[in-house]
Order: sequence, then C-alpha cells, then structure tokens
Amino acid sequence: MSLLVVGSVAFDAIESPYGKVDRIIGGAATYFAVASSFFSHVNLVGIVGDDFSAEDESIFHRRKIDIVGLERAPGKCFFWAGKYSENLNERVTLCTELNVFADFNPKLPENFRASKHVFLANIAPDLQRSVLKQVKGTPKLVALDTMNYWIERTPAELRETLKHVDVLMINDAETRQLSSEHNLLRAARHIFKLGPSTLVVKRGEYGAMMVDKNGVFCVPAFPLEEPHDPTGAGDSFAGGFMGYLAGCGQSSDAALRRAMVYGSVLGSFAVEEFGPERLRRLKLREIHARARHFSKLTQFKL
Ligand code: AMP
Repeated sequence: MSLLVVGSVAFDAIESPYGKVDRIIGGAATYFAVASSFFSHVNLVGIVGDDFSAEDESIFHRRKIDIVGLERAPGKCFFWAGKYSENLNERVTLCTELNVFADFNPKLPENFRASKHVFLANIAPDLQRSVLKQVKGTPKLVALDTMNYWIERTPAELRETLKHVDVLMINDAETRQLSSEHNLLRAARHIFKLGPSTLVVKRGEYGAMMVDKNGVFCVPAFPLEEPHDPTGAGDSFAGGFMGYLAGCGQSSDAALRRAMVYGSVLGSFAVEEFGPERLRRLKLREIHARARHFSKLTQFKL
C-alpha cells in the first residue's frame, strides 16, 4: 500500500558536542521518506528552491520514493539551524528561514490521491488539512506531527485538523502543551477527545510510548554509546512506524506494536551520524537485526 508524506525538504546547519555541519540535507519529509521507503512505496509532497541540486535529490533515488510531488520554485530551500546541549537532550533553534516554504501550497499529483496511509509532517495545520482534503476516499490511517509553534500560534486550525487524524505522533513536551496535562496518560485521554484514537509520544533517549484503546505500550530507545545528532530522529521514527504499517497493510494491536519497534529502530540509526548520513547507508538486513536486538532487550521471565 502506498504512503503519502507532506512536509519540509530542507538544508540544516547542526551543532552538537560531536561536531558541526554548516549545510546538510534535512527536513522532516526527507527523514520520513528515506526511513519509510525500506518498507513501503512513498509518495513525497514538498517544495525545494533552485539551490536544490541533482546531487541533493539523489538521496531519494534508487529507493521506493516518488518525487513527482516535490515542487521546484525560484528561491532558496527551507533552512533550519539548531544546536544541541552537552547531553543532547536539549536543542535550541538558532535560525529558521522559510524561503520557498513560505508560499507552499501543497498540490497532490493525481496518482498520489489514492494513498491509503498518510503522514502529515510538521507544517501549518491548515496546509495539513488541505492535503488530506485532496486524498480520495477515506485513508486507512492518517498520522500527524506538530510542534509548539503551531500549538501556540494556530490552536484553532490545529484542533480542526486533529478531527481527521487517527494517530498523533508528538514529543512529551508537545503532548503536555497541547493537553494542558502533565501526566501523559491523562494527556492521552484529553487528546482522544480531539479526534486521534492513538497517541504516540516520542521521548528521545527514554524511548516511545503508545496509548490507545488497548492500553499502553512502551519501547525503549536503543542504547547507543555515541549518538552524534538527534536531528530527524522523530521523523525517522515516524517513517519506520508508518512505513511498516503501510508495508504490511495491517492495523492490529500486534502490528502497531511492531511498528513502534521499527520506529525506534529507524530513529536509533538516524542519531548515529550527522544529518541523514547513516540512513543513506542503511541496509534492510541491519534494520531487521536491530529489531531482533530490541526483542532481546525487552524480554524477561516472570
Ligand atoms: P526533528 O529533529 O524530528 O524535530 O526534525 C528536524 C527536521 O525538521 C530538520 O531537518 C529541519 O529541517 C526540520 N524543521 C525544523 N523546523 C521546522 C519547521 N518549523 N517546519 C518544518 N520543518 C522543520
């Protein structure tokens, strides 16, 4: 089954205690598409400027990623710069330049409209809704990511969009902010009233938690000795999660639990190197090997 993603394709400048890069390809849709393409065909909708070269585009080549929905506009790509704290847990945004992203009005190519799985990466909630309106029929699963910027500035638009979403995938701070609840279980109950029936909370080095009608399921983050750059970990997690579900075509509790593991696997590879470099070299057999490692990590007898 095909998977649609709409979101940023960008250049990032990243600084962490492990080093610094001035310009590396990034963007939520980039991480998501590369991660999910290990499991499913991916239809990518986004926008880039004329500074996006054929070499930059090659990140999407030789993968199951259709980029006919990647619009080209005069001007520069979306640019984001961020710096991580010593323990990599905190990040400050140093700069956000919207550039061609400022006038982005996503248009779905005809052959994307039948997508059954949809991931609305972190962009303006009304643009996320406009993408959803262009999808034919009712998709099997719609997931959405958002951030403090939209929760604070466009709360009404976000609430309207959430009515059409099945899975909300956000981090713990965003969960608390959106729900005005500190406790994540109480937050989930609040969020279910807004539309989503599943909440996936991404918790960085503490792993991820899924709450739905079946209860709670938690996966740890893969223990790494030297994570280098957390940029894109959340989007890679979302890519592993949605890619796995689109690929297997199931939505049972067991499939959702496996999707949580594949999300964590892809997120863990993403942080190993700066930008999407580790994901670029990644092989499917490495993904499955790490998923088996996760299984061992969490097994115990009573
Ligand atoms: P994450 O680390 O999962 O939050 O995602 C980081 C990626 O999101 C980077 O590659 C950025 O280019 C992109 N990004 C940062 N801020 C925004 C924003 N306001 N809208 C869309 N994408 C963004």
